[in-house]
Amino acid sequence: MASPATPPTIDVPASSRTVQVSIIDSGNINGLPVSLFMGPDIPGFETINAVIFTFLIEHTDDAGKVSRVLFDLGMPKDVQHDLAPSQWDLVTTFNCTYDITKYVSEILSDAGVDLNTINAMVWSHPHLDHVGRPSLFPPTTELIIGPGVLASEKGGYPGNPESIILEREFLGRKVTELDFTSRPFKIGDMDALDYFGDGSFYFLSAPGHAPGHINALLRTTSQPDTFIYLGADSFHHAGELRPHKYHPLPEKVKLASFSPFPCLGELFHKIHPSSQVDPGYAKAHDDPKATPFYSISEKEDGSSLALDKHAARETITKIQSFDADENIFVVGAHDTTLIDYVDIFPKKANEWKAKGWKEHSRWQFLRDFENPLSLAHS
Ligand SMILES: [Zn+2]
Repeated sequence: MASPATPPTIDVPASSRTVQVSIIDSGNINGLPVSLFMGPDIPGFETINAVIFTFLIEHTDDAGKVSRVLFDLGMPKDVQHDLAPSQWDLVTTFNCTYDITKYVSEILSDAGVDLNTINAMVWSHPHLDHVGRPSLFPPTTELIIGPGVLASEKGGYPGNPESIILEREFLGRKVTELDFTSRPFKIGDMDALDYFGDGSFYFLSAPGHAPGHINALLRTTSQPDTFIYLGADSFHHAGELRPHKYHPLPEKVKLASFSPFPCLGELFHKIHPSSQVDPGYAKAHDDPKATPFYSISEKEDGSSLALDKHAARETITKIQSFDADENIFVVGAHDTTLIDYVDIFPKKANEWKAKGWKEHSRWQFLRDFENPLSLAHS
C-alpha cells in the first residue's frame, strides 16, 4: 500500500499562551436532506441529523484579567419569531425538525456563567443555526462578524427585507467586522488574525459557505502545543473532509456502532463516488482510500447552497492539512459523531489529545454508511 502523502507543516508562531475551550451542545436540527450540503448522492443516506456546537473560550492575560468569547450562538429557541420570516419559511420548506430547548445565553446562565463576563460573541457566518439571539446578552458584549457580513445583512430585517437577522440583534452594541487585510499573515495557507495578540486564539478566513465565513484556531496546551480548529460550516459531515491523502482510510477500521471487531476499510470503497460508473461531479479516477466521500453540493445546473462552491472546496482542502496534524483537533459545528467522544460544557476540551478524542472519533462518521453498505452489498 502506498504511504500517505506528507502534509504541509502548519506554521503557527511559537507561543506559550493558551485559551480554555468548552464545546457547548446547543441542540439539534434533524431531517435535512444530505443533498442540500454535499454530494454526489450515496443511496441509503438521505437525511442528516445534525448537532449544533458552539464554543466558550476563556483567555487570561498577564495581569490576570479574564476575557470570555463565544464562538457561534446556535439556533435561537423561537425560530419563528427570533429571525426574519424568510427563515421560518426555510425551516418549513425543508420540513426539518429541531430540538432547541435553551438559548445559549440560558445554557451559560444555568451553569453559573454571568453574561456580563462575556466580552464578545462571534458569528462564524450569518445563518439561522449560528446567529442565536445576541440581544439576550448585555450591551457590553461585542458582536464579531466576518468580512462582508455588514454588507450582506445591512442593519437587519425589516429595514433590509433581504436580511435574515432582526434589527434588534445589531442594536446598542459594538459590532466589529474582522479585516484580514490589515496585517497580512497566514496560518496553513489561510488568512489569519491573532485575536489576543499572544498566539492563543487565531481567527482564520474560511470563505465559500456563506458571506464572511470564518474559522478559528485555539491553542489548547503548550509544550507540547495542541490546538482545536473550529471548522464551523466549512463541512457539514466528516465525509466531506476524510479520507484524504494525508490520512487514507485504513485497511481495517473499528466502528463502535457496527461490531466489536474491526471491519475492512475496503468495504466502503464500493459506495465511494470515485468507484462509481457515473460519479456525477466526483472524479472517477480519484483513489477512494484518499478522497473524501463527498464534496460541496451542486445541482445539475451547477448551482450550490454554498455562496462560492469553488472557494468552499478550496477551504476544505486547506482544512485537510490541519486535520493531518496529530496536534490539531478539527471540530465542525455539525459533526454529530463527536458527541460520543468529547466532553461537553461545562467541562473543558483542552485535554482532547491526552484523552484520545481525535484518534477515537476520526472514522466514526462511517457509521452513517451502514444503510448504503447493505444496499450496495445486497
Ligand atoms: Zn450550520
